[in-house]
Amino acid sequence: MSTTEKHHFQAEIQQLLDIVIHSLYTDKEIFVRELISNAADACEKLRFTQAAGTPVYQPDTAPGIAITTGEKTITITDTGIGMTHGELVENLGTIAHSGTKAFLKQLAEDKKPDAKLIGQFGVGFYSAFMVASNVTVLSRSLAPDETGWRWTSQGTGGYDLEAAADLPRGTSITLELKEDALEFAKSATLEQIIKRYSNFVQFPIELNGKRLNTVQAIWARAKSDIKPEEYNEFYRFLGHDQSEPLYRLHFTADAPLAIQALLFVPERNFETLGMARLDSEVNLYCKKVMIQAKAKGLFPDWLRFLKGVVDSEDLPLNISRETMQDSSLLKRLNQVLTGRFLKFLDEQADKEPATYQKFYEQYNRFLKEGVVSDFSHKEALGKLLRYESSTLPKGTHTSFAEYVKRLPEGQKEVYYLIGANREAVENSPYYEVFQARKFEVLFLYDPWDEFVMEHLHEVEGKPLRSAEKAELDVTEPTPKEGSLSGEKAQGLAEWIKQTLGDRVAAVRPSKRLVDSPAVVLDADKFMTSTMRRIMKSMKRDNEPDEPLKHDLEINPAHPIMTRLDAMRQTDPVLAGKVAEQVLDSARVAAGLLEDPRAMLKRINELLEQVLTVKS
Ligand code: ADP
Ligand code: MG
Repeated sequence: MSTTEKHHFQAEIQQLLDIVIHSLYTDKEIFVRELISNAADACEKLRFTQAAGTPVYQPDTAPGIAITTGEKTITITDTGIGMTHGELVENLGTIAHSGTKAFLKQLAEDKKPDAKLIGQFGVGFYSAFMVASNVTVLSRSLAPDETGWRWTSQGTGGYDLEAAADLPRGTSITLELKEDALEFAKSATLEQIIKRYSNFVQFPIELNGKRLNTVQAIWARAKSDIKPEEYNEFYRFLGHDQSEPLYRLHFTADAPLAIQALLFVPERNFETLGMARLDSEVNLYCKKVMIQAKAKGLFPDWLRFLKGVVDSEDLPLNISRETMQDSSLLKRLNQVLTGRFLKFLDEQADKEPATYQKFYEQYNRFLKEGVVSDFSHKEALGKLLRYESSTLPKGTHTSFAEYVKRLPEGQKEVYYLIGANREAVENSPYYEVFQARKFEVLFLYDPWDEFVMEHLHEVEGKPLRSAEKAELDVTEPTPKEGSLSGEKAQGLAEWIKQTLGDRVAAVRPSKRLVDSPAVVLDADKFMTSTMRRIMKSMKRDNEPDEPLKHDLEINPAHPIMTRLDAMRQTDPVLAGKVAEQVLDSARVAAGLLEDPRAMLKRINELLEQVLTVKS
């Protein structure tokens, strides 16, 4: 009295199965994720039905998932809602989703069946046939007056359906593995795959009696219910890092995208510890099922130090790597997540400056990389930068916003000066005029800052200006005593230019010098001395030196200049040597003298002459 019903697959299903079976070689293991996801969905639906008060068959059986392996088989059993006869026919024998026909039509036209597309159209179940030559589904619906059913198929033509007595509630799917897929029956292999994709499924998963998913998907829980220790434990698990994270950001958003994210900043920046370039360690999930580990493109490259989880319901499950990369959805996710994280940093900097300082020490280069490489977040990143300043004690840092708040009336620009350290910039001839005028100057010690400033260009609505370039009108009300008159100073400048010839671009009396006799300024409007030093260090040894041409500005009030002006009349040869030395000294002060040997020779000659005069 066989009651076996023979069913044919809907034509599209057969077409689809052929594609699944013959084209999905690379990502075969995703069948595990798909079947477990279906089992988890069934458990979730059960929980929901029970919570609604609807009577169910075997109400005391808790929802859960158990996987067992034989030598050539895998069985995935759940205690979820199960399927009735009608549901088996409808869910596993026809394609319900309307998008699928279009999908198949497109495949036929392109003649390029592609693994990536499976699952996006609600066809995850069929991935079982990638690895199985025979699939048996035993299912018993939650409806109390139903009975059980056995569904079997080889994935060709159709399936058999017959009644099966005495089944517990839920569904059990047995895969008889193909010869080339026996690997998946090994419990070590299977465990790895399950942990990779399904570690955070909210129902217990057992493999051959061993519980696998013990860590909860805490990102999906309410923040108020989570203890700090739970966060730290999760971080240790996820980040393989025993220390506590420096920052933690847990947030949810509904619009424009549904996002649950839990992000961590490790205490140390491992890239500066001489390790290889970091790889983003934020994993992408859809409803607690992993879509992609270390998801590329989820965050910009310059946030590659982040670790954590992003879960978005808006993602099509089973979307694959290749599809993710150019997905516009991913770009939108990236924008939202990046904006949110930068806002978080800004808040933290405000709330807890000491912790932010720690963060900044570790990660400032990443922020700077962002300024230089990512136009869309430049402004937000600029707000996060911190520098020492001429008005603050050494070791204290300021933001551009704070600087601008302090601006005295009449100052319209934000000044910065780059140097090796505090002493160097404070003693720099470029700083003199700012000190005299009591204009605040930001002190920058990182050579990268040169490029950062160029890219920022302006902050808080004010232009950023290098103190090496800033042209300030600092004419003092009364000229300093003993200062050369304007006419004389001009005459001296012209004579120095004549004497030095091609070695300088131009010579002129300075309005910016207070204590130094002279300073070199860039003739090139777009280059500062730091940039020159960087370019020089990048140049190969045998490349000829670009002749360095600077403008020289002289200080008409400095004794060297007043006396030089007198000496050029009486001893033009000695005066010429002094002029050369003035240029070289100014170059030394700017860190631009390439080869000090010629200068040393000259200094020795000058010393000799000084000693001769005195004796
Ligand atoms: P999707 O999960 O995207 O709907 P699948 O091909 O993975 O597509 O599954 C098709 C349908 O089969 C599911 O929507 C569900 O109704 C049913 N189904 C699959 N597996 C189970 C299961 N373990 N328990 C109950 N129903 C299931
Ligand atoms: Mg599915």
